[in-house]
Amino acid sequence: MSQHVAGLSTHPDGALTDGFTLTADALRANGVGTMYGVVGIPVTDLARVAQARGIRYIGFRQEQAAGHAAAAAGFLTGRPGICLTVSAPGFLNGLVALANATTNCFPVIQISGSSQRSVIDLQQGDYEELDQLAAAKPFTKAAFRVDRPQDIGLGVARAVRAAASGRPGGVYLDLPADVLGATIPADAGRASLFQPVDPAPVQIPAPDSVARALDLLAEAKRPLIVLGKGAAYARADEAIRSLVEATGIPFLPMSMAKGLLPDDHPQSAAAARSLVLGQADVVMLIGARLNWLLDNGRSPRWSASARFIQVDVDPAEIDSNRPIAAPVVGDIASVMAELTRALRSGQVAVPAAWWDQIRERIARNVAKMHARLTAEARPMNFSTALRAIRDVLDDRRDVYLVNEGANTLDFGRDIVPMYQPRHRLDSGTWGVMGVGMGYAIAAAVESGKPVVAIEGDSAFGFSGMEIETICRYHLPVVTVVFNNGGIYKGDEVNAHSADPAPTVLLHSSRYDKLIAAFGGTGYQADTPDELGHALRAALDAGQPTLINAVIDPAAGTESGHLAGMNVTRSLQPAR
Ligand code: ADP
Ligand code: MG
Repeated sequence: MSQHVAGLSTHPDGALTDGFTLTADALRANGVGTMYGVVGIPVTDLARVAQARGIRYIGFRQEQAAGHAAAAAGFLTGRPGICLTVSAPGFLNGLVALANATTNCFPVIQISGSSQRSVIDLQQGDYEELDQLAAAKPFTKAAFRVDRPQDIGLGVARAVRAAASGRPGGVYLDLPADVLGATIPADAGRASLFQPVDPAPVQIPAPDSVARALDLLAEAKRPLIVLGKGAAYARADEAIRSLVEATGIPFLPMSMAKGLLPDDHPQSAAAARSLVLGQADVVMLIGARLNWLLDNGRSPRWSASARFIQVDVDPAEIDSNRPIAAPVVGDIASVMAELTRALRSGQVAVPAAWWDQIRERIARNVAKMHARLTAEARPMNFSTALRAIRDVLDDRRDVYLVNEGANTLDFGRDIVPMYQPRHRLDSGTWGVMGVGMGYAIAAAVESGKPVVAIEGDSAFGFSGMEIETICRYHLPVVTVVFNNGGIYKGDEVNAHSADPAPTVLLHSSRYDKLIAAFGGTGYQADTPDELGHALRAALDAGQPTLINAVIDPAAGTESGHLAGMNVTRSLQPAR
C-alpha cells in the first residue's frame, strides 16, 4: 500500500497550494535531496521553493552540464538525479545530457518548464515555443507531461519509477508554466502526494538460467569475466568479489567498472586485455554490453568460437551482437546471490595454463608501460604527466576521478588505477565530450569527497565555464587540463591560409588563470614534478583548483585509440 505523505507544508495562503510547492514536495516524498539546474522562466520559483523545502539546489551556467551532473548523481547514488531547466532552448541544452544518460543507463529525470500548450500546439509563436514532450521522446526511456496540478505527485512518482527500475535511464518530465502556477486546495494537494513503494524492485533470475551459466563456466578452458558499469551501478560489490574469487576466473573491468575490484587485484587481467579477449573460450559479461567498446563481440578481437554468458537486467540486450549461449536476466545483485548459492565447490576450475599465458603477457606489457611512464620527456607527454598524477592518487584512494578527452582519456584509463567502486566517471558509452565539469561537480556534491578531473584541453572547453560553479559552491574539485594545444594534437599546420588548422587550439593558453578570476587557485605545470606538487597541494587544500599541465603538442595520435574509426581521405589532400 502506498503511504501518503503527512505534514507537507502548503502555499502561503494556507488553504491553497500551488504547482511549485507540489512539485518540490513530490520530489521530497521520493527522496530527492539535490537538484541540478539553471533557472529562468518559468521554473525560477521551483528552485526557490525546493531550497525552502530543504532540497539542495546547485545552479549551473549551462543546462548540459547540469544534466550531466544529475546523471552522474544517478549513477553514484542509484537514485534518479534531477535536472531542472527552462523551456525550449534550455530544455534542448539539457537534452544532450538526458540522451547520454539513457545511452549509459544512468537514472536521471529532466524536469523542464514549458510554455502555453494552446499556443504551442497551433504554432502561433509563443515565447520559447516547442513541443518538448515530442522532442524528448526519442532520446529518453520515458517522457511524461503533467497537465493538472493534482497530477504532479503521480507524474513525479512515474518518472522516478521509470528512471530507476529495470535498466535505468533518462526520463523527461514536462511541467507547463500554467500547471506550476496553478493553485488547488491544500488538502487535495496533500492527498495527491505519496511515497512510491519499492521504485526499483529486484529482478530474480530464473533458476535454470543460473544452472546453464554455471554448466558453461564449468566447461571452460580459458574463462573470462568482463565487468561493466552496470555491475558497478548494481552495488553488489561484495557478491561480485566473492564470485570472482570463488571461481578464480580472470576479470577485465570496463572503464567505469574499474575499482569495483581493485586494479591491483591478483585476478585482474587488465594488462593482458588483447590476449584475454582474443583467447577466452567462455566469457561471462556482467553488466557490460557487447557494443563498440567491446568490438561488438566480433572476431578477430574475439574468438569466433567463444561462448558467452550475459548477466543483464534488460532481456532485450541479449543476442544484440552475437548469440548468447547462457543469458541470465535479472538484477546483478540477485544474479550474483543465486550464482554463488548454486555454485558447487570445485565446479569451476581455471586451468593453470590459462593463467600462465595471462601472467606472461601481463609481465611483458607492464614492462613496456613502465618504460613509457619513466621516459624523460620535455615537454611532458600523456604518459609522463599521468604517471605524476598516478603517484599522487596512489596515496589518495578516496579521490573521485573524472576523465575525458581523446588521448587524455585513452592513456588515463590505462595508467591511473582505481581501488574503490564507482569512483571513476568518464566519457562512457557514447564517447561524449563535455561531461567533465558536470560529473566532477556531482561527484563532489554527492560524496563530499575530493575530485580530480583529468581533462583534455578540447574536452575542458565544452563545460569549462562551470569552474565558476565549482568556486561558487566551494567544491574540492581539482581540474587538470592536459594542454597539448589541440583536438588530438596541437602541431598541425594549415598550408592554405593564415588560419589555424582545424585541430589546433591555443597552446599558449593559461587555463590556470581562468579559475583565478573566480577566486580559485591556479597552477602552471611544465614537468611531472611540478604537476605532482601542484596536485598534492591542491588536494591538501581541498579548494577549487585548476592545473594547466603543458603537454607536447606533438604527443598523442589523431582520434586517440579510435584512429581506426576515423574516416580519412583516400586521396592525398591538395597542398
Ligand atoms: P560498459 O560500458 O561498462 O561495458 P554498459 O553500459 O555497456 O557497460 O552496460 C551496462 C549494462 O548493465 C546494460 O546493459 C544495463 O542494462 C545493465 N545493468 C545496469 N544496471 C543493472 C543491474 N542493476 N543489474 C543488471 N544489469 C544492469
Ligand atoms: Mg588536446
